[in-house]
Amino acid sequence: MRGRGPRRVGRIIIHDGCADGRISGAVASCLSGLGGVETRGGAAVDAGGALMGAHGGAAMYEGHALRSALSRAIGADQGIGTVHMLLTDMLVCTREGDRIHARTMMAPSPAIVSIRGIIEGPARPPGYYADLAEFGRAGPARGRYLEEGDPRIAGAACVCAYQAAAYCETGEGPCGDPGCVLYDAHLQGELLGQAAGMRLCGRHPGLPGPRTFT
Ligand SMILES: [Zn+2]
Repeated sequence: MRGRGPRRVGRIIIHDGCADGRISGAVASCLSGLGGVETRGGAAVDAGGALMGAHGGAAMYEGHALRSALSRAIGADQGIGTVHMLLTDMLVCTREGDRIHARTMMAPSPAIVSIRGIIEGPARPPGYYADLAEFGRAGPARGRYLEEGDPRIAGAACVCAYQAAAYCETGEGPCGDPGCVLYDAHLQGELLGQAAGMRLCGRHPGLPGPRTFT
């Protein structure tokens, strides 16, 4: 539970590394209640040292190493109250034991929101793989999971970016309310539901909520 105290986040700098230009605009609007938002081009991150393999044709980047590389790319421009956030198409992963998990976002600053992680991370609906095996991309499950270029990704990215920025503001982890924008979704359907509702539950007094975009 968070009381009303001094705000920690004053300025949010988005480093837009996404091919889809709609995403950064949506995220900038969504975060504007938390601080002044500035959008720049993608930071010149030397990500080679973070490379950890490939999955489904996409290179995987280790999230902690990528955050370190981002921090080096940003250099001295990291004043108190400033949150740097990289929006990227790179597939960002972390290792937990012998398993590798795709990550939708990492925080605190410099934070990362991974569009490929949004597609690959939260579990797709049951039947997805059987559907894919039988029908390819044209099966009946199509539309119930996210694919590259899906316009709903912008909303999902807003949820993940808000979570990253809110963590910088509060230092608190995910919320247990599945209807809350700060809930850590394990299913793609949950994440899409959060994006559609974009609602902050009542457990976060004083925290400015996400702003919905048009
Ligand atoms: Zn909540």
